Amino acid sequence: MKNIMEVKFSAKSENESFARVIVASFAAKLDPTIDELADIKTAVSEAVTNSIIHGYDENEEEFVYLRCEIEGNTIKIVVEDRGNGIEDVQMAMQPLYTSKPELERSGMGFTVMESFMDDVWVSSIKGEGTKIVMTK
Ligand code: ATP
Ligand code: MG
Repeated sequence: MKNIMEVKFSAKSENESFARVIVASFAAKLDPTIDELADIKTAVSEAVTNSIIHGYDENEEEFVYLRCEIEGNTIKIVVEDRGNGIEDVQMAMQPLYTSKPELERSGMGFTVMESFMDDVWVSSIKGEGTKIVMTK
């Protein structure tokens, strides 16, 4: 039997920690190790930060959508925005690629998500938004 939670929050940077904490608290059911929990929190943070900074160019009027599903021993986390979208997902996911070097981003967000989660799937349409699905 699946356990599901869904939340929608303003695209404000202060909500990055909120997202991290609620996912961690929901994931606690899986009885994760401290390391596993830290990995999940970091991956959520990277995805949410991307939606706020890249998806919405920090427009706080917009919303980030977060959904988690636990089934068996697996957690699936979906982070979605209805913002700018990504023209070339493959290029965006390359380590060190960033479209905002002026903000001193390092271009490592996707690489971090991929190394900390078992599976990361990105779907994005330019001008419509981006959806990240991660499992562990
Ligand atoms: P860092 O995460 O290291 O601070 P970054 O955010 O630029 O830097 P990634 O998280 O790997 O690096 O993302 C790579 C690029 O993918 C971004 O620079 C941006 O162009 C694009 N991108 C990522 N997420 C989104 C999103 N939700 N909406 C639009 N573009 C995105
Ligand atoms: Mg990033």
